[in-house]
Amino acid sequence: MPVVIIPDPSLVVLVGAAGSGKSTLAARHFAPDEILSSDALRAIIAGDASDQGATQPAFAALHRALVRRLTAGRLTVVDATNVERHARLALVRRAYAAGLPAIALVLDLPSAVVLARNAARSGRTVDPAIVAGHLGILRRALDTGALAAEGWWAIVTLRDRAAVDALRIERRPRAADA
Ligand code: GDP
Ligand code: MG
Repeated sequence: MPVVIIPDPSLVVLVGAAGSGKSTLAARHFAPDEILSSDALRAIIAGDASDQGATQPAFAALHRALVRRLTAGRLTVVDATNVERHARLALVRRAYAAGLPAIALVLDLPSAVVLARNAARSGRTVDPAIVAGHLGILRRALDTGALAAEGWWAIVTLRDRAAVDALRIERRPRAADA
């Protein structure tokens, strides 16, 4: 995997099933205060990262923080599954409204890897049927070209563990990007 250039500021949207390694990847490549995580916001709001009843307020809070950050010109990473088209489009729109590029970082790992990681998770595992649902929805979005047509400035697709391990990100100040 060559070095991935990420304009700074920009919006970086992680896309991947539960257990695909989004939060791990975010922690490896970005500062904690650059990451807006739906799980973290559920935990803050409801005391439990997996409380689905807190999904709506968690995403409302995520979008509020996102708008403020993008308007202020701060690179922001959204750590949520984003396998659903409406979720991705809502984020792309926020970037466009702020005049910033949106980059999709897609964790398209083999299903077996994702399901095994989810099962091996310490603490919280997600129902494997839900993970399989995520994998199916993402597969269709990639294979039909739907995701590719959503207006992303760039789409980076990581298809195996080696690609994830080899990922190198270089930030490029946006002024120098023009
Ligand atoms: P998320 O649900 O997409 O945020 O996935 P996480 O980042 O929480 O990762 C799910 C599980 O897979 C965790 O137990 C991680 O420790 C593990 N995991 C994630 N990325 C890697 C990786 O690159 N290598 C290995 N060996 N394990 C990983
Ligand atoms: Mg996570």
